[in-house]
Amino acid sequence: MKYIGSHVSAAGGVQNAPINAYNIGATAFALFTKNQRQWTAPPLNNEIIDAFKDNCIKYGYTSSQILAHDSYLINLGHPQSDALEKSRRAFLDEMIRCEQLGLNTLNFHPGSYLNKEGVNSNKKKLQADSITTNKTVEKKCLKTIADSLNWVISKTQSAIPVIENTAGQGTNLGFKFEQIAEIIEQIEDKTRIGVCIDTCHAFSAGYDLKSEEGFNQTWHKFESVIGFKYLKGMHLNDSKKPFASRVDRHENIGDGSLGIDLFKRIMADSRFDGIPLILETPDETRWIEEIKLLKSFING
Ligand SMILES: [Zn+2]
Ligand SMILES: [Zn+2]
Repeated sequence: MKYIGSHVSAAGGVQNAPINAYNIGATAFALFTKNQRQWTAPPLNNEIIDAFKDNCIKYGYTSSQILAHDSYLINLGHPQSDALEKSRRAFLDEMIRCEQLGLNTLNFHPGSYLNKEGVNSNKKKLQADSITTNKTVEKKCLKTIADSLNWVISKTQSAIPVIENTAGQGTNLGFKFEQIAEIIEQIEDKTRIGVCIDTCHAFSAGYDLKSEEGFNQTWHKFESVIGFKYLKGMHLNDSKKPFASRVDRHENIGDGSLGIDLFKRIMADSRFDGIPLILETPDETRWIEEIKLLKSFING
């Protein structure tokens, strides 16, 4: 079974998200459980929690069809301790909100090391030197992210943090499968960690999902480095930028440098069954049509 939808609005309260999803013909959806551009939000009250759960039942969404997304402000790999603490507390709050709403998965971008330490920007320095330094800083940041996750997991009951691959802009980590695997390796309870692959980010980071051969190679690599057992969701986006650009710019399905074949292949592939497949494409007036198109690619 393929679950297909978009990142819908939760304006007016999270209880509206399942209605918004239903209205565009979605069988899955993503949402923010609070304003994604603010650090804090008033706690969810019982009325909102009940309304959300009632609407999920009414419109036919189980927790395996829903993927929550965290705030863009959070950086679980922040190099400075006070800012890291702030991020960890905000992420914990979001995990608790997910559990209150009966949601299993919270999607997040792993983190950035922000050039605040270790990286020498002196151009005279040998490149080899700076690559070594970068490796050390990267390793440290990946460990900080894993430490953040272990702390949050120990303070919650059931929700699963879901690591999203990135395009590798700036100092954002998680653009290589190996970096994601390095975080997972350090997670104490491996039943409480998952992965979400964003097709635009993967392509921008240098995974050739466009050709059939590249598609097969990428998923072979994903299985051997990370493993499909960790795949808890997908973000289906075309890319405005060319292959390996390391720039994160989403495009509507079929309109970008990725093209439509990738999405046909995903829809026909049972490895992507039973998880939310979420559009984060820029023109939301086209979501109804995009969902319909994706559904038409499903075999049988
Ligand atoms: Zn995404
Ligand atoms: Zn993106």
